Amino acid sequence: MVLIDGKKVSAEIRSRLKQETAELKNQTGRIPGLATVLVGEDAASAVYVRNKNKVCQEVGFQSFGQNLPAETTEAELLDIIKKLNANDEVNGILVQLPLPDHIDSERVLLAIAPEKDVDGFHPINVGKLAIGNALLTPCTPTGIIALLDYYGIEIAGRHAVVLGRSNIVGKPVANLLLQRHATVTICHSKTTNLKQVTCQADILIAAVGRPNFVNADMVKEGAVVIDVGINRVDGKLIGDVEFNPVAEKAGFITPVPGGVGPMTIALLMENTLRAFKASL
Ligand code: NDP
Repeated sequence: MVLIDGKKVSAEIRSRLKQETAELKNQTGRIPGLATVLVGEDAASAVYVRNKNKVCQEVGFQSFGQNLPAETTEAELLDIIKKLNANDEVNGILVQLPLPDHIDSERVLLAIAPEKDVDGFHPINVGKLAIGNALLTPCTPTGIIALLDYYGIEIAGRHAVVLGRSNIVGKPVANLLLQRHATVTICHSKTTNLKQVTCQADILIAAVGRPNFVNADMVKEGAVVIDVGINRVDGKLIGDVEFNPVAEKAGFITPVPGGVGPMTIALLMENTLRAFKASL
């Protein structure tokens, strides 16, 4: 069994981005810029945004942090996004979700210029991903593909089973796997005979949001198991996969934490650099 080390792969991507950014700065006199927009005081969101700004500095990007009070109106937020869309120094705009209840998240995501949508959630980018020609694809799913590639795991022709059909993880990762010529099955809460389906997976992606949901009986011998789940249980982070018994059967497996998690932020930076290069 090979333990997939997301921390190591993420660090390597960040170091490559840092080098490329320095080279581009020499050539163009410009650096990529990422704007993070946080509305309200949700503690977990604040940590995520702080980390994103920290990694921005690490790779040599300019970061534009907007920490707005919880009472910010939708109109005020839309106005801020309009200004960021028009700002040439900003190549990526990330609005941290969830937004307070009085703000319509869909309207806000639609307002972000698609070429600056580094989360890949704008319907234009979602559509481009479905067609197969997107520049900006969602960070966590793209990070999963980067992990498979790093470990030389064949995707074409293999059966990938995705547990979960959210717009953030399940659907986009299924699309990316399809683009790479996997045979893809998507499962969800209404799937019948789940175990029968998961036992056929050469590559099993668990994005369910339920601690230890995938047990060893659901996994084929030698399968590649990617655990996207982040569940807090008694103050500990637990994945969607029952790690020890599944690891005994799997060919490759990601731990939680230290697997998919660290990839998301690295791919956010990669998307920002892509958006910057496309703007030159
Ligand atoms: P959602 O809650 O949006 O989606 C969960 C999916 O799992 C749904 O499609 C749901 O089906 C399906 N599901 C729920 N119960 C079952 C069941 N009993 N059998 C089969 N399918 C089921 O979650 P997300 O996709 O946003 O996130 C999934 C996990 O990944 C979470 O733990 C989240 O914290 C984590 N995550 C981690 C990230 C990272 O950076 N590592 C980034 C994003 C998320 P249905 O559609 O029918 O309801």
